[in-house]
Amino acid sequence: MALIVHKYGGTSMGSTERIKNVAKRVAKWHDAGYQIIVVPSAMSGETNRLIGLAKEVMPQPNPRELDMLASTGEQVSVALLSMALQAIGKEAVSYAGWQVAIKTDSAFTKARIQSIDDTKVRKDLDAGRIVIITGFQGMDDDSNITTLGRGGSDTSAVAVAVAMKAQECLIYTDVDGVYTTDPRVVSEARRLNTVTFEEMLEMASLGSKVLQIRSVEFAGNYKMPTRVLSSLTDPMMPLEEEAKSGTLISFEEDIHMEQAAITGIAFNRDEAKITVLGVPDRPGIAYQILGPVASANIEVDMIIQNQSVDGKTDFTFTVPRGDYAKAIDLLNDSVKSHIGAASIQGDTKVSKVSVVGVGMRSHVGIASQMFRTLSEEGINIQMISTSEIKISVLIDEKYMELAVRALHKTFDLEKSN
Ligand code: ADP
Ligand code: ASP
Ligand code: MG
Repeated sequence: MALIVHKYGGTSMGSTERIKNVAKRVAKWHDAGYQIIVVPSAMSGETNRLIGLAKEVMPQPNPRELDMLASTGEQVSVALLSMALQAIGKEAVSYAGWQVAIKTDSAFTKARIQSIDDTKVRKDLDAGRIVIITGFQGMDDDSNITTLGRGGSDTSAVAVAVAMKAQECLIYTDVDGVYTTDPRVVSEARRLNTVTFEEMLEMASLGSKVLQIRSVEFAGNYKMPTRVLSSLTDPMMPLEEEAKSGTLISFEEDIHMEQAAITGIAFNRDEAKITVLGVPDRPGIAYQILGPVASANIEVDMIIQNQSVDGKTDFTFTVPRGDYAKAIDLLNDSVKSHIGAASIQGDTKVSKVSVVGVGMRSHVGIASQMFRTLSEEGINIQMISTSEIKISVLIDEKYMELAVRALHKTFDLEKSN
């Protein structure tokens, strides 16, 4: 019997009414003869509420306790969904991550899944039960509850699908698939029928929060067919139609090759820029600046170092906004005088906009087209970074939406291809 994993996000689980709809949809799949595992998120707003409570008590909450708290949102969801299924005559059982067990490392608030035990779940499925497992959470070797980072239920779902050798992982959310860009920012954004795994990986890492990046990594590493689709359609819509709807992440490279150069546009507001001015231009400087930043567990994204004219140069890089203050303090306290830098400057009002597409490999002139569009809009580019299938620019955050809209138009993304 084929096994399918369903994942439902916060909006999809947002009220008891919505949970009842999820139950109807799940029951429909089960009635059609599939074994079903459901991985829900916390009800919408709940994780934010819990983190807010923690911060009222302790401004920088202890990460272990924060995970203990934040993980409870998903426990509420699994129990309610199990009840909703039982209420319509289905046998269902809910589990917290530790009960399965979903084992992770001990990196609280951003733990990585290491293994998933399939024994208990397999038994339930074989007995005809629908199994509901909390998203977002796991347990480390010392039996501490851990969480997988914001949006982590996507990763739980794909990892469970991989561990259980499911036929497909269906990610039900509040949009009906992956779009050329966030449809809430560009109303002309177009849904993609397929997106290559590589493109989805770039889009997720560049800020498209429709899927957590680690879920895409799991899907790619284990070639797990993964589809993003709407949970807000009629739950009783024909199953065959639903099964083909949304966006499939494809592992076939060349689907888009002959078509558009650009598949999508991603953006990220969670950026801050730091410049170390007047640094001596000698070997080891990049390491002396970025080494301590990395040791403090701060992720550095874009980096530029200028050509020196008089033996001095400026060194600029970006970090997540939440780590900005920590990074500035660190540089002022232990790096600036050590390397003889003149001063440290920063800007938290910056955003990154990226164009992504495997078609870029076979098209030239994408960068100049992008830069021309931004220049026509009078938008100054502060930093640039590229890879084979993406070009990213850092700009003033107040122009971010304008840039995304203008680029969406320039690359004809509203037209179907
Ligand atoms: P869930 O709670 O179901 O996990 P999320 O809010 O995490 O949902 O992700 C879905 C949201 O992702 C959409 O509502 C949309 O605003 C946003 N999004 C960003 N980029 C894209 C994109 N390229 N395609 C579709 N949705 C996107
Ligand atoms: N509830 C968690 C969050 O809000 C996990 C998720 O929704 O995927 O980040
Ligand atoms: Mg999400």
